[in-house]
Amino acid sequence: MFACRAIAGGSLDVISRLSRTVRNIAHVLLPPVCAVCERELPLADDALVCGVCWSRLQRLPHPQCQRCGHPGSVTNCHWCAVLPAYVRSARSVCWVPDGSAGPIVHAFKYGGWYRIAGELARRMSRLAWPDEERSEWSGIVPVPLSASRLRERGYNQCRLLADALAQQWKIPAYDQFLMRPVATRVQARLTPEERLRNVANAFRVSHMPSCLRGSHLVLVDDVITTSATLNACAAALFDSGVRAVSYVTFGRARSLGDVPT
Ligand SMILES: [Zn+2]
Ligand SMILES: [Zn+2]
Repeated sequence: MFACRAIAGGSLDVISRLSRTVRNIAHVLLPPVCAVCERELPLADDALVCGVCWSRLQRLPHPQCQRCGHPGSVTNCHWCAVLPAYVRSARSVCWVPDGSAGPIVHAFKYGGWYRIAGELARRMSRLAWPDEERSEWSGIVPVPLSASRLRERGYNQCRLLADALAQQWKIPAYDQFLMRPVATRVQARLTPEERLRNVANAFRVSHMPSCLRGSHLVLVDDVITTSATLNACAAALFDSGVRAVSYVTFGRARSLGDVPT
């Protein structure tokens, strides 16, 4: 028994040494570079984005509205007005597309750099929420992609964020019951009114677990701009019996009245 364990342990040592050697050779032949600026990354680092690019994020400054997390006004927040009453709160890490956030989100969504999800989610998981609210959360739900967009992209970036956040926050992620049956136009090129029309009735809830009726769920998106997409998802959840919804995103677009920081 002891001999078997010793042999197994020895084999693992050899495998681990071999994989380190292969990695070193690969690093010399094809050095890993930052997904955003293409600077060479340190060997010991598993990161996909370099420290310089992360340091160029423009974090949302304080003070922030308690409810929507928007900087500027703690009371009489103009941004809260766009959220339905059952949306309890919203939080985001940084302004988009300011600093390096635009290229990071672009690489994550459109450049195939799906493994950046872990690094984005780590920053999202550190956002501050009222304690009483966090204890209410029953689960985390990604904004879904339509089947055709999923085939085209190969992954739903919001699902990757939701899975990573679920691990950090130790709550379940649910990606089965909120659906997007029809592909909508890409929101980025639309006016606020067009965005609203584009996603109205775009989402449907099917076979939601009965334990989630009356619950408080967290919706995850990579970026919040006018909140039209998240509001449409929240409406579908609310109509299916969910009592409260909160939003978490990596980026937030400035709205009228926001001053550059
Ligand atoms: Zn970089
Ligand atoms: Zn607000």
